[in-house]
Amino acid sequence: MSVILVTGGTGLVGKAIQHVIETEPEGSRFGKKPGETWIFASSSEGDLRDPEQTKKLFEKYKPTHVIHLAALVGGLFKNMKYKLTFLRDNILINDNVLHNAYLAQTTKVISCLSTCVFPDKVAYPLDENKIHLGLPHESNFGYAHAKRMVDVQNHAYKDQYGCNFTSAIPTNVFGPHDNFELEGSHVIPGLIHKCYLAKKNGTPFVVMGTGKPLRQFIYSYDLAKLFIWQLREYDDVEPVILSVGEDEEVSIKQVADAIVKAMDFKGEYTFDTTKADGQFRKPASNQKLLSLMGGFEFTPFDQALDFTVKWFVENYDRART
Ligand code: NDP
Repeated sequence: MSVILVTGGTGLVGKAIQHVIETEPEGSRFGKKPGETWIFASSSEGDLRDPEQTKKLFEKYKPTHVIHLAALVGGLFKNMKYKLTFLRDNILINDNVLHNAYLAQTTKVISCLSTCVFPDKVAYPLDENKIHLGLPHESNFGYAHAKRMVDVQNHAYKDQYGCNFTSAIPTNVFGPHDNFELEGSHVIPGLIHKCYLAKKNGTPFVVMGTGKPLRQFIYSYDLAKLFIWQLREYDDVEPVILSVGEDEEVSIKQVADAIVKAMDFKGEYTFDTTKADGQFRKPASNQKLLSLMGGFEFTPFDQALDFTVKWFVENYDRART
């Protein structure tokens, strides 16, 4: 019997894991296995910044396994304005979860890092050995340092107590249940919402920047499968980058084109080239993942985006906007 607690179970990634576990054939590689109970916890079940509430959550569910997704997450503006809050909240959440997992003798914990944690000045492509090779970008200072500490903690828990704690490093995630706020969200959900409003109001769809920067985007349902693989088939403290390949980078223009198509937007569509572009590319290698997993079929980008846009349009009233 195993009880898998997913912290942050109501967010973009948590909802995707729930979807995959509930829809893949039972007993299959990514489906629910006999004897498994999955718990998807929201912050209303316990604020993980608080040690007592975290302890109660562990006492209530007695998890054998934890996929730890809960985090204070935000776009560039929020990260820059609330550096200390991003640092402290995430340090508290991670420390409470890992220490309670240790006290409760949890068999395994996978925590979630992000490619934002990598050094600002580093040789590309990013890989799992480069996390601590230099300072993160100034804009992510608090969030990145808090997340990096998880890797440090995982090693310390393993060395001192023999815990099976590890971490995953996803690239940019998108899918249903994302945060679609116009300000402070990530690029794909922000543009989907903007295009939706442009269509509704008959106004131009304006994309900030030249549209040239390249990024690796992973569909949340694909990422969910990779987490389930890591939970069941990977037992090492070192992190694994969960991403599409470097050769599957997509430009912001390709993203915007795909949104226009999926939204069936026929109005004026332009790029505001007076706005900053950000880094041109920051590719991450998924070689470790593919060599361990023996290959994985990612959902084609346009198909995943089309599904996400349809989900947003159908769920506009309940989506995070
Ligand atoms: P979301 O913002 O969609 O969800 C965050 C989740 O964390 C929610 O379930 C939220 O609960 C929970 N949470 C936040 N604060 C607390 C708290 N104090 N106590 C308990 N629960 C809390 O995030 P994502 O699904 O996008 O991200 C999941 C993980 O993936 C995070 O660790 C993030 O850093 C990482 N990541 C995300 C990427 C992305 O592109 N989105 C890229 C790389 C990594 P509730 O809603 O109930 O308040």
